[in-house]
Amino acid sequence: MAKMYYNDNINEGVLQDKKVAIIGYGSQGHAHAQNLKDSGFDVVVGVRPGKSFDAAKEDGLQVATVKEAAEQADLVMVLLPDERQKKVYEEEIEPVLTEGKSLVFAHGFNVHFGEIKPPANVDVFLVAPKGPGHLVRRTYEAGAGVPALFAVYQDASGQAKDVALAYAKGIGSARAGVLETTFKEETETDLFGEQAVLCGGTTALVKAGYETLVEAGYQPELAYFETLHELKLIVDLMYEGGLSGMRYSISDTAQWGDYVAGDRIIDAGTKDRMKELLAEIQSGEFAKGWIKENAEGRPNFNAITEKEEQHSIEQVGEKLRDMMPFVNASKKQEEKEVVA
Ligand code: NDP
Ligand code: MG
Ligand code: MG
Repeated sequence: MAKMYYNDNINEGVLQDKKVAIIGYGSQGHAHAQNLKDSGFDVVVGVRPGKSFDAAKEDGLQVATVKEAAEQADLVMVLLPDERQKKVYEEEIEPVLTEGKSLVFAHGFNVHFGEIKPPANVDVFLVAPKGPGHLVRRTYEAGAGVPALFAVYQDASGQAKDVALAYAKGIGSARAGVLETTFKEETETDLFGEQAVLCGGTTALVKAGYETLVEAGYQPELAYFETLHELKLIVDLMYEGGLSGMRYSISDTAQWGDYVAGDRIIDAGTKDRMKELLAEIQSGEFAKGWIKENAEGRPNFNAITEKEEQHSIEQVGEKLRDMMPFVNASKKQEEKEVVA
């Protein structure tokens, strides 16, 4: 079994006398900044003037430009979109990244694929919560946390691991468990997970199921409930009790259907194609394509987003969710907080 770290095995003292700059105030940024502040750490948020800058101020945080924040901090956590990190790093962080500082990420993409090349005299590590930023904040406020991975890429101070663990404790992740990994392992498994299962695999499965029912003449609203809405309820059961826990709660008919149908949908061919995805991630081919897509102004990303938003499951879902205000009550609350 992998070694897990929890609050009791972590000494947060190594971070106590350090200043932490959180660069970016988006999904992860707002959660890390607020959780660290509430854990008693000295935090400054570094963002450009605009929406995020105003939001961080509104939330009572110390705010500065990226360069000013990086300059005054001992630890610089880069929580910008991955595809923007290289430019901002080179222009505003690298010039003030002096000896002895820590350069930190929540995903290994840029360092692992060689886009960002840190100097040898700083610590480089990652602390990657395994969950979206809004849950990193919401679970912290509820006294819980989102599990996280940490990895040390470069240990110039001899203290990088201790500081990484203290950071993970500060954002609440050590309440749930923190696991040591490498930049290579974190980057490759994160990309694979989101492509094959969590995002790509799941959205494709939901759409295929929805389309099959609608094309066979069933009502779209019913198809939405059956293939999208109910997925959350099933995933919640898996989250609480694994596959067996979920199967315990469903009817025996559903459990039998699971056994006889699952392998016909996700078969050996699917797994072969998953291996192809993994190989493209490992070779850097996926990263190269995504960097190129951004350099060209995201023509495909934007076109696909527009097309996907037109899918009938989205039109039907929007109407149905409006009639179920409890479904996204916390999301609406967060939107209000961001606007406020
Ligand atoms: P977001 O897209 O939410 O970050 C947006 C933030 O970056 C905003 O505050 C935005 O400010 C700021 N920003 C964008 N461009 C610039 C710029 N040129 N100069 C200054 N600020 C800028 O990012 P995420 O939180 O999704 O991701 C951050 C990191 O966390 C990534 O490495 C990601 O892989 C990782 N991660 C993300 C997870 C998630 O669930 N989202 C989960 C685990 C890891 P403005 O308002 O001015 O545009
Ligand atoms: Mg990811
Ligand atoms: Mg059913």
